[in-house]
Amino acid sequence: MFNVIIIGGGIAGISVAARLSNHSSVLLLERESALGYHASGRSAASFIKDYGNDTTRDLNSLSFEYLHSANNGVLSNRGLMILAKKGQKNEFKSSSESLGLTEISLSEALKAVPIVNRKVVKYASYREDVYDLNTNRLIQNFDREAKRNNAVIKINSAVKKIERSKSIWRVLTDSGEYHSNILVNASGAWVDYISNLAGIEKIGFLPMRRSMARIPLPSEFDVTNWAFFSGPNEDWYAKPDAGQLIVSPAEEDLVEPHDAWAEDLTIAEGISRYQEFVTTPVKRITSNWAGLRTFAPDRSLVIGPAKCNSSFFFMAGQGGYGFQTAPAASNLLKELIMGLPHNLEKKIIKKLDPKRFN
Ligand SMILES: Cc1cc2nc3c(=O)[nH]c(=O)nc-3n(C[C@H](O)[C@H](O)[C@H](O)COP(=O)(O)OP(=O)(O)OC[C@H]3O[C@@H](n4cnc5c(N)ncnc54)[C@H](O)[C@@H]3O)c2cc1C
Repeated sequence: MFNVIIIGGGIAGISVAARLSNHSSVLLLERESALGYHASGRSAASFIKDYGNDTTRDLNSLSFEYLHSANNGVLSNRGLMILAKKGQKNEFKSSSESLGLTEISLSEALKAVPIVNRKVVKYASYREDVYDLNTNRLIQNFDREAKRNNAVIKINSAVKKIERSKSIWRVLTDSGEYHSNILVNASGAWVDYISNLAGIEKIGFLPMRRSMARIPLPSEFDVTNWAFFSGPNEDWYAKPDAGQLIVSPAEEDLVEPHDAWAEDLTIAEGISRYQEFVTTPVKRITSNWAGLRTFAPDRSLVIGPAKCNSSFFFMAGQGGYGFQTAPAASNLLKELIMGLPHNLEKKIIKKLDPKRFN
């Protein structure tokens, strides 16, 4: 018997397991054979403080110090640049303003990314304090903390059935049957499915596919210190990764929860949008993948107890921000479950509360 069972071993579940393990007996159940197999293994691994809606930005800001410093930090400098063509001035101004970038000259843009096509690009803006986030290390840090505090992490444990009697949750999985007082739903794209198993009203989460392709560049280019760069409409972006560039079509295609893969046409269209802005043609793709960014209907995270059952908690709707919000989000859920004083303002907690949905 555990006090808390967490379903899902992505960044949402493992961060909560670590936080709660300091206070409570915890079991985390993950269907796959490793942590971070789904969305958490497929991200762009970035921290952009002003990305997402106001509530997300609050969580980003509150997470920064932990990401920057805890366990020697998981952030490294990258910088963010937006590029725009003639005729894109309005989009350029509004996306630069919204993400907090300052206009720069084209020669400065070429310093940040030497393949910028100056025949096409008319506007550029830049922000220095945007970071690469070492997602593997963050997952490992939380995993280590959870295990140090005797949390039990069970992989290959797909949850198949959930029952409740006499205020105890009974969870049936591939690896056996487990019991707890409290259940946390951190199952990413499968959040409505797990709620349904537990007899909790579904919120209507939206799993949206986003793809990525890895492309090599001619050997004269060393991409190590290039900025993350993007068009003004978030319809493509690119950043250095392991000596190559990763380019995303930045699509949001609504799909059923599944083990996502990239569609050739989507990748080709994204590469074509990216290619207009650069001088190096894409001749080959070395790999591609996709993951599901799962949003609540209002695109804020969902953190807190279900409306109809105060022992069933959501840690869901991480969308495109699961890593950059993880420290603050997991801390809030810990406070809510353990009845501890809150670090966050009441109005933010209310915007994250599952009870906001009818
Ligand atoms: C292309 C792309 C780029 C991104 N870029 C960024 C970025 O730059 N910065 C950022 O912060 N975020 C980014 N994200 C978003 C981030 O990856 C997600 O928000 C985050 O990984 C979601 O974590 P999660 O734990 O909720 O979901 P997941 O990682 O999907 O974890 C859910 C887990 O639940 C398990 N599960 C489901 N059903 C069951 C069951 N029945 N029994 C047991 N286990 C179950 C699944 O196997 C899965 O491992 C990006 C995402 C994508 C796809």
